[in-house]
Amino acid sequence: MENNTMKALVYHGPNQLSLDDVAIPQIEHPEDVILKVTLATPCTSDVHLAVGHMPFVQPPSILGHEFCGEIVEMGTAVQGYQVGDRVHCISAIFCGKCTMCQKGYISYCENGGVFGTVKGIDGALAEYIRIPYASQVLIPIPEGLKEEEVILLADMLGTAWYGVSNAEVKKGDTVSVFGVGPVGMCACLLAKKVFKAKTVIAVDLLQYRLDTLFKEGLADYIINANDGDVIKKIRDITGGHGANAAIDTAGAANTINAAIRSTGHYGIVATVAIFPKPIEVPIHFMTYRNIQLRTGIQKCDGLDIMLDLIKSGQINTSFMQTHSSPLNDILKAMDTFGGNKDGCIKYLITPYER
Ligand SMILES: [Zn+2]
Ligand SMILES: [Zn+2]
Repeated sequence: MENNTMKALVYHGPNQLSLDDVAIPQIEHPEDVILKVTLATPCTSDVHLAVGHMPFVQPPSILGHEFCGEIVEMGTAVQGYQVGDRVHCISAIFCGKCTMCQKGYISYCENGGVFGTVKGIDGALAEYIRIPYASQVLIPIPEGLKEEEVILLADMLGTAWYGVSNAEVKKGDTVSVFGVGPVGMCACLLAKKVFKAKTVIAVDLLQYRLDTLFKEGLADYIINANDGDVIKKIRDITGGHGANAAIDTAGAANTINAAIRSTGHYGIVATVAIFPKPIEVPIHFMTYRNIQLRTGIQKCDGLDIMLDLIKSGQINTSFMQTHSSPLNDILKAMDTFGGNKDGCIKYLITPYER
């Protein structure tokens, strides 16, 4: 590292993002690794953060928690890796030692947090990133796989896995997915291809997302929520019975309510959305039908299984990767991705070009 500054997308407070020159991160602890970021992509939660929906994040903070990189420096306690290794990474760090980690609740590690949201744990929309507890959180990229083939594994697919497995989707089921942004698209993909649902119904307000899923064969029915009664449409598709399971990624009162009311007896509604405020749910409707509502974000499980399925070609997210630019254009990328402009689904960020 001949120069000691790098370019990074810095959050300075609500609606204040800039591409700044900042210090290149250094090893601070023996379990740290420094990565040269080879590919990154903003997440919808970065967009929420940038406009101030996550007031607990203290600026300045470098955003970005979906990424791949190459190891350029290693702390003395890091095991199983070498300088030059290509890696992907879990979106939140975890120590492996605290009470929560010992219970297996690694996404709630007492010493952890999502990259870019915790003081001192900067994100990956930068040229370099420091990875604490590297031996725990890095995922080696298998020989023969490209960065773009694995980059959506830990966050998009990991979150979708939690939703689909929490909804107990089974072979032959009819599953509705409310909100088909990148996580919802991954939920449709997993429900159809991995959990072997017979019928997937995708619901969204943006027609281009629905059309993409239909074209890819990942949704059997697409419903634009602007076009009439979603609950009635799902009940009609299912012969009046309702879906066996529903996954919500939208986090709005109307989507959760529609998910519940279009799910059949003994069905499960699993939400992986972020809820900015409390909402009312029709608990009487659920009670008389034995419908369960399950919440949460993700447990970082299923990643090994999905990596194998990426290797064997059964999981392919290339259809979602609609845009790509170097880090130089990150502000434009945030605007295009965050505003769902130009048919954008995921916007890949390649290294800064000097
Ligand atoms: Zn994310
Ligand atoms: Zn921990």
